[in-house]
Amino acid sequence: MKKYKNFETNAVRIQTERSGHREHTAPIYATSSFVFEDAEQARAMFADEISGNIYTRFSNPNNDEFIEKLCALEGTEDGMAMASGMAAMFISMAAFVKSGDHIVASRSLFGSTHQVLTQILPRWGVSHTYVDIHDLEGFEKAIQPNTKMLFVETPSNPGIDLIDIEYLAKLANAHDLILNVDNCFATPYLQNPAELGAHLVTHSATKYIDGQGRTIAGAVLGTKELIKEVRFLARHTGPALSPFNGWILSKSLETLPVRMEKHSENALKLAEWLETQADVLQVKYPFLKSHPQYELAKKQMRLGGGIITFEIKGGIERGRKFLDALEMLSFTANLGDTRSIATHPASTTHSKLAEEERQAVGITPGLVRISTGLEHIDDIIADIEQAIAQSKN
Ligand SMILES: *Cc1c(COP(=O)(O)O)cnc(C)c1O
Repeated sequence: MKKYKNFETNAVRIQTERSGHREHTAPIYATSSFVFEDAEQARAMFADEISGNIYTRFSNPNNDEFIEKLCALEGTEDGMAMASGMAAMFISMAAFVKSGDHIVASRSLFGSTHQVLTQILPRWGVSHTYVDIHDLEGFEKAIQPNTKMLFVETPSNPGIDLIDIEYLAKLANAHDLILNVDNCFATPYLQNPAELGAHLVTHSATKYIDGQGRTIAGAVLGTKELIKEVRFLARHTGPALSPFNGWILSKSLETLPVRMEKHSENALKLAEWLETQADVLQVKYPFLKSHPQYELAKKQMRLGGGIITFEIKGGIERGRKFLDALEMLSFTANLGDTRSIATHPASTTHSKLAEEERQAVGITPGLVRISTGLEHIDDIIADIEQAIAQSKN
């Protein structure tokens, strides 16, 4: 597929070869398998001597279009589409570890990724060490002779803390480790971990890549050499993306640049407004000057993205009342949608953690997370303003 010089053009124009029907948009290749022209072609494809589609668990034109685009946008050589972000996270780890190996990870991780590291991989003898996301030197100290991978998310969920990808890439290279970065919050439009030295870039495409709350999907991207291992594990264990979702996601990527610009513009306006509110204690957003890592955000991100957190005065009770008082914002377990979404981690996603565990990843009792959508900013602010006022009583 032909590549162009600029991000926006690749997002729109990378396309599967047209069929004889001269379609403008790629059709959905809803087929389980592909027909061989003859016995020799079948033999050569199975032997990996020539490339081509065999079976949709292995590859499919819609998923290939999605992945070729995503690789062009991230600056990676190769990749594989997955049925969910968690399939991507799990396969991207499992493909590179065996019993007795070790992974060093930032403590600030998505909930299910935390379960994979603490509950699932240990069943096969793979251990891990967590490091505080702010303790850069701690990453080096945590490396053991059997360490194979560094795994981080930046910005983190829901703490909105950042980590210096370039620093970690140098560390990984010095110790012959794979640096794996979950780039879900930033998307390739705002941050390109591979260009900063990361070896693997993982995505939950469910979030901003789809951007409209319609699908569950993921992707693992990286060098040809690493993706070969990912592909081997994925082809034979089956986390394949459905062609229908691959088609949706390729179309979604066409609008990623304009959506991320607007999400970021709305989020910055909302964050600046929140900072002026008396009942709001602390606002966290990468492109706010008050963010402790504002300089790093400017260095490794193009814009701040759509996610903001703030601490509402009055703790856990006020946080719950605030959510109940919202009239327009959605209360749902997703983010990166066109619709603004509010969540209260302490009473929902992180309610099972002990208070100290929540504090360790920056989840205070009144912490509210907003995924700023694409509605008019005045309507978003108006809803939050009335909910802050109402939740006082
Ligand atoms: C949602 C999310 C995931 C998991 O993705 P799914 O598509 O829900 O499986 C992983 N990492 C981060 C940072 C996420 O926000």
